[in-house]
Amino acid sequence: MTISFDHSYARDLPGTYLRVPPDSAPAPRLLLLNQTLADDLGLTLDPADVVRWFSGAEVPPGADPIVQAYAGHQFGGFSPQLGDGRAHLLGEVLAPGGQRFDIQLKGSGRTPFSRGGDGKAAIGPMLREYLISEFMAAAGVPTTRSLAVVATGEQIWRETKLPGAVLTRVAASHLRVGTFQFFAARGDHDKVKALADYAIARHYPDLAAADRPYLAFLDAVIARQARLIAGWMGLGFIHGVMNTDNMAISGETIDYGPCAFMEGYAPGTVFSSIDHQGRYAYANQPQILGWNLARLAETLVPLLDPDPDRAVDLANDRLTGIAGHYRTEWTRVMRRKLGLFGEDAGDAALADDLMTAMTGADWTLTFRRLADEAALRSLFEDFRAMEAWLPRWRARAGEGAAQRTAASNPAVVPRNHKVEEALSAATEGEMAPFQALLSAIQEPFTATEAFTLPAPTGFGAYVTYCGT
Ligand code: AMP
Ligand code: MG
Repeated sequence: MTISFDHSYARDLPGTYLRVPPDSAPAPRLLLLNQTLADDLGLTLDPADVVRWFSGAEVPPGADPIVQAYAGHQFGGFSPQLGDGRAHLLGEVLAPGGQRFDIQLKGSGRTPFSRGGDGKAAIGPMLREYLISEFMAAAGVPTTRSLAVVATGEQIWRETKLPGAVLTRVAASHLRVGTFQFFAARGDHDKVKALADYAIARHYPDLAAADRPYLAFLDAVIARQARLIAGWMGLGFIHGVMNTDNMAISGETIDYGPCAFMEGYAPGTVFSSIDHQGRYAYANQPQILGWNLARLAETLVPLLDPDPDRAVDLANDRLTGIAGHYRTEWTRVMRRKLGLFGEDAGDAALADDLMTAMTGADWTLTFRRLADEAALRSLFEDFRAMEAWLPRWRARAGEGAAQRTAASNPAVVPRNHKVEEALSAATEGEMAPFQALLSAIQEPFTATEAFTLPAPTGFGAYVTYCGT
């Protein structure tokens, strides 16, 4: 079988990428293939091809591997040159519905953007991205997807020797805020305009006819990102590295590194070993949303209006609106989680007051058990604040709330202790625990026993790592 690749990025955006082949994998072995996703994309794949094509051992017919340039603010400091240091875009495919998707290898070898890195990835982090991205998709939050993980047969060096792997990632595109920043920082406004035109055509085609297409584009990215971050907050998801190079113009979650799901609700929760200041803590994510979008707006200013002052005013006006947009999206997410019909002026306050009342209790299970007071109580050391809040919720939610909250709140999320257990076993060559966890998180609204409970107290504080 062949894949019908197209190459619109390479065709339309010369000067924004380099043509670099992936490294060849010495002894590739298929660990995972996402057959459902392959079907959705209209791909008929032969396992023998998959293992060679999605490991870098062979460039599939019709592919034209490129690596994309981008910059980014990392923890607030600007890096003018990042780029694909360990990823290769094979090309794009058109799904049966006509939507265009990137097919990208990650962990596929060094490129001119690798700086000091080896261009490789270990099995653990690639399986982690596969697992968590597939959970996000199952839970209904926009995300890049994972088509395959192939072990390369190569040992790579991290703190110790680890088996290497390549992840095949499927994305609406890999345009990032940092892609715009790369060219804006060099004063190359023609490239910024070309990127904006490309992004509009690919992600927001209706906007091409708008009065001010670039302002409409900024509005559209703000709207999608506000919705995305509200979705994360609803799941208790902490991305961990919300650098501008990790924020996709498409509005999908991208670059699963040290991310994890919060268990006991605490707004300041951080898992990443390097986030000492808590910049990307759970409750900071909405502020970082605004900060990152301000960086995107800066790159677009020259396109917004011929009068520079007017252009800045337009951008500032949009940036001022982000907090309100986000609040609206968050309230929408919370209405669903609380099983509320319609809209009531008091809904946001009801949700805010729950945040105060549930401090310390398990994020996932609190929502899941709202309608079962005995089960809910067992999650709390001190139930008094909840005792005061629950009658307000019952009065607002009314009949059928139990069914609605069961349908809108996952019973299973990738619990940190289960993820670690599965990845350790996989690194030792034992895939069964990973497969069991993957099956459970693919049906997150069904309570698969053994995957619903928080980590035992002995598990301790959870720490995740970048650059793996
Ligand atoms: P990330 O933290 O994964 O978002 O990556 C930030 C930057 O570091 C990007 O430019 C990546 O391509 C690059 N990078 C991450 N890991 C590696 C690696 N093992 N080898 C080369 N470049 C890497
Ligand atoms: Mg990244």
